[in-house]
Amino acid sequence: MLSISPETIFRGNNAWEKSLPQITNLTKSPLILGRSIHTDNLRNKIFKDLKNQKLDANSVNLKFDCCYEDISRIKKIILKNNHDSIIAAGGGKVLDSGKYIAECLDIPCITVPLSASTCAGWTALSNIYTKNGKFIKDVALRSCPKILVYDHKFIQTAPLRTLASGIADALAKWYESSITSSKIDDGLVQQAIQISRVLRDQLLIDGKKAFKGEFENNPSWPNTIEACGLTAGLVGGIGGEKCRTAAAHAIHNAITQIITPNKFLHGEIVGVGLLLQLRLEEFKNNNKLADQSIKQLLVLMKELNLPTTIAELGINVFENQNLDKIADFTLRDESEIHFLPFEISKHDLVEVIANFEQQKIKI
Ligand SMILES: [Zn+2]
Repeated sequence: MLSISPETIFRGNNAWEKSLPQITNLTKSPLILGRSIHTDNLRNKIFKDLKNQKLDANSVNLKFDCCYEDISRIKKIILKNNHDSIIAAGGGKVLDSGKYIAECLDIPCITVPLSASTCAGWTALSNIYTKNGKFIKDVALRSCPKILVYDHKFIQTAPLRTLASGIADALAKWYESSITSSKIDDGLVQQAIQISRVLRDQLLIDGKKAFKGEFENNPSWPNTIEACGLTAGLVGGIGGEKCRTAAAHAIHNAITQIITPNKFLHGEIVGVGLLLQLRLEEFKNNNKLADQSIKQLLVLMKELNLPTTIAELGINVFENQNLDKIADFTLRDESEIHFLPFEISKHDLVEVIANFEQQKIKI
């Protein structure tokens, strides 16, 4: 079964206002789900607009992450108040929680991404974490959200760091899907991989210009946020589970197992995982172009102020057996790293990560 896209997508400036008639038709008593205090203003606007439509809206925030504790607390609130939909307005963790809870309760989910940090507003997938942010697993959902509202005016208010994170996550689509699935004899999968290649090229060209923080007369900005929030989701939708994540996300999941004082965004960690995946391809799969790709990515990542080593994510791999912990989690049986078309031993992975962290890579 393919869940290619949300049923309806509103995009551009004032997409939220344009979506109101359809939302009003779909739901009478929505629960608005959020998390960050920085986006309270936007959720207050959403709440007021829904009230003006005579909807019986209510609002609740995640306390932690997309975790079972928050999920069961919010499920109870919905059942107690008879809410008939969820409007998830926030970043990836909020969108993933909203989609997951809506599916459990068989009510529609409306996603309103408030940054370009991930494509979670689009996809039929939720990543589940512990309360303190350790990755547990991803869950495939029956369908994409009912309505996706990708309002550029909302996304303009997000910190630029979220845009950089979204770019790194979207770039990973090509490097991960092309290595895991390029030999799959399925036209749709091949087309999805090619979309991810064009997506990568556009991000390499437009990413830096979009990152300037200028929204007017800067076509790179809408193109880039839509590449991160929409096209990246479409690649997963068309490619399905065959267009899989690989080492970059597997390493991301392992890095989240180590709790650090400063939290990093999903794409910031995936970006480091992507560089490590390319090193693995170079050493274990004789990929002669990997070094070129790393240099090309590093130029953009530095321009976007993205972390480029695990140390820059606040983790010293040479302390507290961190290297062991990252390698073990990356290589566990259910890890996406096993979708790579070559074998990796713990020794290989430890060596690649240790070398990577020790050497200062020259651009
Ligand atoms: Zn991702």
